[in-house]
Amino acid sequence: MTFDDGPMPHRTTAVLDALKAECVRATFFVVGTMARQFPSILRRVAADGHTVASHSWSHGYLNRIRSEQRRRDEINGGLLAASAALGTAHPALSPFFRFPGLGRTRALEDYVAERNLISMSADIVGDDWKPIGSEQVLHRVMRQLNAKGRGIILLHDIQKRTVDMVPALLQALKGGGYKVVHIVPSVRDTRTALALAEPPANTRIRTALANMRSEASAFAELSAPTKPAPFQLAVNRPPESFRPETGATERAEVASPRVAQTVAATPSATRPVMSNPALSMPTIQGTASNGFVVLAATQVIQSFEELGLRR
Ligand SMILES: [Zn+2]
Repeated sequence: MTFDDGPMPHRTTAVLDALKAECVRATFFVVGTMARQFPSILRRVAADGHTVASHSWSHGYLNRIRSEQRRRDEINGGLLAASAALGTAHPALSPFFRFPGLGRTRALEDYVAERNLISMSADIVGDDWKPIGSEQVLHRVMRQLNAKGRGIILLHDIQKRTVDMVPALLQALKGGGYKVVHIVPSVRDTRTALALAEPPANTRIRTALANMRSEASAFAELSAPTKPAPFQLAVNRPPESFRPETGATERAEVASPRVAQTVAATPSATRPVMSNPALSMPTIQGTASNGFVVLAATQVIQSFEELGLRR
């Protein structure tokens, strides 16, 4: 089960609530500009144990963009935005990629594969971007699914009609004896894709990514558990009384001038000492849980027919 074009307040979170109620995990193909606006929603997607995949920087139809650099910026910017919002090495992040509007060319597919991204299409579409009702979306999904017996379902978590039908869809899947398979990326594949991602040439995208990274690192600092730092004692002293012990600084300077400089230059009061356990980011489990089949990304291509839904 896959959801495209988010994250979006209220709608993505309503989908997450519905999935959680049925212990179902899905893959969210997120757009970079959406992740930039709503990084905390994306962090909740990851914290709930779903797989995060990329769907370009701004949802441009890549097969219609004439500039090769812009096409590349769209592809790389999408992955880097998801990574910036989550923190680079979050295990929920995957190298899965979906072309906006499924618009692709052979050259684009080759470029995506060179970057170690795994392009994912769809077998069953709910037409949920069209002006139809929730019941019609549900009907179309189930009709195609019943005809095929299995497949990757494409829905949009930014659409109200979809948000409204997800609980009924999950009931219909359960009633029809279908099993939702959760696709979990291999951490190694994601790392490789991140290492191969080219920094976008577009200045606006670069600036947005830099801002996202600094926001995410501030978030991680606040949510990290307080470590028993060697400087903990200094924290309780008034800043003006904080002086590294002369001998210790000298020794540190010999070992690592940069560390010693940091110690001497940082007033203790500016170091984050608070910890909010509610903000901590849980990681997803790499093993089978709740009856879901877990596959490494490298297995995806070979086992494509095994994925999605089956009776
Ligand atoms: Zn899309």
